[in-house]
Amino acid sequence: MNADNDNNIAASGKGRLFILSAPSGAGKTTLCRALMEHFSDMLYSVSYTTREPRKDEKSGADYHFISKEDFVTKIKEGKWAEWAEVHGNFYGTSAEFLNEALASGSNVLLDIDVEGARQILKRYPDSITVFIMPPTPGILRNRIESRGADSRDVIERRLKNAEREMAQSGLYRHVIVNNSLYEAIAELVGIVEMHRKGVRHEAQKRKGQRVRGSKAQSKKSEE
Ligand code: 5GP
Repeated sequence: MNADNDNNIAASGKGRLFILSAPSGAGKTTLCRALMEHFSDMLYSVSYTTREPRKDEKSGADYHFISKEDFVTKIKEGKWAEWAEVHGNFYGTSAEFLNEALASGSNVLLDIDVEGARQILKRYPDSITVFIMPPTPGILRNRIESRGADSRDVIERRLKNAEREMAQSGLYRHVIVNNSLYEAIAELVGIVEMHRKGVRHEAQKRKGQRVRGSKAQSKKSEE
């Protein structure tokens, strides 16, 4: 599947693609869950990863956990809409899932890193991108350490990666500073509402033009 095909498929549906990125510890998982609860028609793209499941993570819901061999085979087969190596593991988004969801008119939420966002923007330039910033680097460190899920090495790697990702937040259309979870959720919901309305508004405008326009004009616009 090449990028032109992806653009055509995405353009044929009315679904919008929302990309959420954040350094680990910025509260992205909670924000994603809140968004999915608020918008019952939003589809979450469950990523594939080669990392080990954490306790409480469910295969098929949090991630599809696959082997490195399977992941690499799928790279060769062109099955990923995007993929990246993050913290020493592979993560990828299924191109088939994404294209089908968008073509059927669904809004889709992707929780991916900056490198993945860059690749998706090339294939789907209309994607709505949101970056979640932690309030301060100190708070980020506290959050990662207090999870108690990672070794010292992994914590340091995550913090380094966070710095690198935050430096690229200019790539994103919206940036939310997660000072208060309540406010960050409200802001995120507002952004999604705004873009969903935008789609509806454009669709209505197009419909109106077709009704008002003469046959000749309609014909011309169809060509
Ligand atoms: P974690 O291992 O903490 O769940 O995720 C680590 C990082 O990988 C996060 O920044 C997350 O957004 C990113 N990630 C999760 N799924 C994907 C994916 O499918 N593609 C890319 N590029 N990044 C992903």
